[in-house]
Amino acid sequence: DHARTHTEFERAEARTAHNYHPLPVVLAHAEGAWMTDVDGRRFLDLLAGYSALNFGHGHPGLLAAAHAQLDQLTLTSRAFVHDTFADFTAALGDLCGKDLVLPMNTGAEAVETAIKVCRKWGYEVKGVPDGMARIVVASGNFHGRTTTIVGFSDDPDARDGFGPFAPGFVTVPYGDLAALAAAIDEHTVAVLIEPIQGEGGVVIPPEGYLRGVREVCTARNVLFAADEIQAGLGRTGRTFACDHEGVVPDLYVLGKALGGGIVPVSAVVADRDVLGVLKPGQHGSTFGGNPLACAVGSEVVRMLQTGEFQQRATDLGELLRERLESMIGRGLLAVRVRGLWAGLDIDPAIGTGREVCEALMARGVLAKDTHGSTIRLAPPLVVSPEDLSWGLDQLAEVIGAA
Ligand code: PLP
Repeated sequence: DHARTHTEFERAEARTAHNYHPLPVVLAHAEGAWMTDVDGRRFLDLLAGYSALNFGHGHPGLLAAAHAQLDQLTLTSRAFVHDTFADFTAALGDLCGKDLVLPMNTGAEAVETAIKVCRKWGYEVKGVPDGMARIVVASGNFHGRTTTIVGFSDDPDARDGFGPFAPGFVTVPYGDLAALAAAIDEHTVAVLIEPIQGEGGVVIPPEGYLRGVREVCTARNVLFAADEIQAGLGRTGRTFACDHEGVVPDLYVLGKALGGGIVPVSAVVADRDVLGVLKPGQHGSTFGGNPLACAVGSEVVRMLQTGEFQQRATDLGELLRERLESMIGRGLLAVRVRGLWAGLDIDPAIGTGREVCEALMARGVLAKDTHGSTIRLAPPLVVSPEDLSWGLDQLAEVIGAA
């Protein structure tokens, strides 16, 4: 009767702010793509910590890197240099093909960092008059939860009640290149977009959009900041989602999987002419670039350099696409798939996304609705084809497509 689950769930809810509406499961252990709850029930993880667990739970290589570093040195602050910092920044810079790396912790911090860097570049390099910098963003965006970031969200839940907001952002429809080009003026310092909108429901822009954004930014002397926090690091079958269009942004904004599901690690990665605008004292973070984060982050980069995880995402993504497309018209209204990442629009006649996720949970599958009737699937890239297939069998049963 899952007694511990009930007790622990009630205890957890009793003493926290209710800024989440978690599924009623209390997890205690996980390995690979599988999690075990406090009552010993097993669940297939189809969310992977919103893509923070691309390499799965407890990956041996990542655990070994973390364990080894724990015994050596965990935190110095950047007042001093430590001996895992150079390896991490060099490896990540090389992975991105960029000169410099600025490590932070969470995704929102990396986005804030990118905003600050783009504005400073605008004033110092582009010559925008002080205080006038503008950044173009997209409708339906999700870049994090700080006050500046939610100020340019168009999701009422994210924004309402949290103002006043920072000025300097202009929103254009996502995927509309003409609107984006028209929004750029002489004070525009950057375009900040997700190459695929994750929280928005795995929204893939029209083919050519990212290339077009790159061309417009170059032509108009505007920085292209790509928020690859959820889309990047193997999820879509390439190292970066921008790679699908052969596009290189001026700033990569990274997070989630960069910490290997072990520690929060984020970063802004760019060339010297961009990140070089920051001078001592102008930006920082107590924990950013700490020894443990760098040790784990370096191992993440090493794993990505093999190409193995990108290939898995591509191969498993074909299975995912095939299975989901066969459910269109049989419980699903539409699906969007890129690599091992999918947004599914559930037929509202079947239930809300929440109800479908609750039914999946009862069958041993954990997924999470994003908006209304949309569910996002982002299994760990280490999931086996058999397990993924089994998980999709459960989905088919729940929505009546079996
Ligand atoms: N940017 C994108 C594209 C995201 O998907 C997220 C998190 O979902 C963030 C930024 C914020 O990251 P964090 O929750 O680590 O602050």
